[in-house]
Amino acid sequence: MNILLTADPDLSAACIQTVPPAVYGGADIIWDVLRLDLIHPIVSGNKWFKLKYYLQLAIEKQCTGIVTFGGAYSNHIHATAYAAAKASLRSKGYIRGEKPQQISPTLLDAMEYGMELEFLSRADYSQRSEKELTDLIKEQNPHSFLIPEGGAGSEGIRGAAEIATLHDLSSYTHIACAWGTGTMLKGIAGAVSPDQQIIGIVVLKGIRESPENRNTTLIHDFHFNGYARKNEVLLKFMEEFYEKTSIPTDFVYTGKLMFGINELLKNNYFPTNSKVLAIHSGGLQGNRSLPLIFATRK
Ligand SMILES: *Cc1c(COP(=O)(O)O)cnc(C)c1O
Repeated sequence: MNILLTADPDLSAACIQTVPPAVYGGADIIWDVLRLDLIHPIVSGNKWFKLKYYLQLAIEKQCTGIVTFGGAYSNHIHATAYAAAKASLRSKGYIRGEKPQQISPTLLDAMEYGMELEFLSRADYSQRSEKELTDLIKEQNPHSFLIPEGGAGSEGIRGAAEIATLHDLSSYTHIACAWGTGTMLKGIAGAVSPDQQIIGIVVLKGIRESPENRNTTLIHDFHFNGYARKNEVLLKFMEEFYEKTSIPTDFVYTGKLMFGINELLKNNYFPTNSKVLAIHSGGLQGNRSLPLIFATRK
């Protein structure tokens, strides 16, 4: 393998940036963004936090590799491929869907980082329960450690809790993040004061899960009709947000998060003098399926 494996993420790069009030017209409310997208060019955002304890466990258990699942544009697959290589572990990604004619940039990167890919046809996964599928994969990879899709689960939550320790967040009345599997939100919600409101902007349609923490609210109004769905309104918002703040967002998670916060602000959701922190959880690599103006931004 000849790729350059750069150092661990630089957590000190995760600065807090203030959105100018002129952007949303709320002089009596502060809107800050925690830039986890800046910690590493590849393993950016929340994925580093969600993976770290799984990788540690894999090494402790003397596994020789990692296996995991994801879609063709998955930030999780991308980050896992890289982080596993850095930890000197082999990796194998089971990708949902038939092998396409053209492999996505995400998967090409994953292969370059050394991940072996296996495509799962719909018949492979739709006829089996999640448990049957993972049992089968474990059986086929006896020396590998299986990381749940998206880094979900207790080790992922434990790692995500550390997002809340990068800065003193105690002055924020509200902390908002995107909700995919909810792992990041659960980690953060468990690590801050119960007086602080945690808001999850749900990016999938039809999520039924209700949060265990009393201080958590899930908002279902900004998924844009489903996971990885997008429209002109969202892309236009992302473009304008970038022009005004220099903060790039992705269309699957952080674009919807910022759009949602902006709408909530416009609708006076937050009481006067609120201090709102949005977690920028990374994911910019996924924009490579978008038109060039978005795809090239870092
Ligand atoms: C994976 C991901 C999420 C979702 O995190 P969960 O812990 O699954 O809720 C949010 N934002 C970005 C950029 C991601 O890549």
